[in-house]
Amino acid sequence: MGATRIVLLGAPGAGKGTQAARIIEALDIPHISTGDMLRAAVAAGTEIGLKAKAVMDAGQLVSDEIVIGIARERLSEPDASKGFVLDGFPRTLDQAAALDGILEEIGSPVECCLAITVETEEVVQRLLKRAELEGRADDNEETIRERMRVYDAQTAPLLEYYGEKGMVKEVLGMGSIDSVSVSLMSALEAA
Ligand code: AMP
Repeated sequence: MGATRIVLLGAPGAGKGTQAARIIEALDIPHISTGDMLRAAVAAGTEIGLKAKAVMDAGQLVSDEIVIGIARERLSEPDASKGFVLDGFPRTLDQAAALDGILEEIGSPVECCLAITVETEEVVQRLLKRAELEGRADDNEETIRERMRVYDAQTAPLLEYYGEKGMVKEVLGMGSIDSVSVSLMSALEAA
């Protein structure tokens, strides 16, 4: 049958957003990106957006309280009952524990942690290219390097967290978008 409640892990620029789009299309489940939701909040000028903007621009993490609240709300929407690809959440161990709690209430635990692995220098180059194309405020070299440090310090430990539950499937994210998608889909089939 394959997994449909999926946490996508990977350093900034590993291709999470691109690959999430492929997976949700193939499995017909929602893409839940806390980064997208936060950027929408910033654009709309909501209270959360106002609080988050400076932190995001600096490449640091928005508070667990805010992102857990956003994720909880989104996961309680009806379409999430058929599964989801979580992209960019959880990013800390506290967020992972909160996610387990939220899903326990619904009786639908995470089934698979898909980890896209990449080399730091390749990723920095990718992100600088994205900066030119999309003009994201947090895609400048200094902020990119800060996001990498934050990933290593706060998010990489989640590999162990999900690893202990036997849920991690690692996929090398260095090839073409298509070849990475194929590897991810077969990892999901086997999960
Ligand atoms: P992303 O689009 O996932 O790279 O997220 C962009 C920025 O949004 C991050 O650098 C953080 O500042 C913030 N953000 C997104 N998701 C989270 C999260 N789960 N926890 C904390 N901050 C987050």
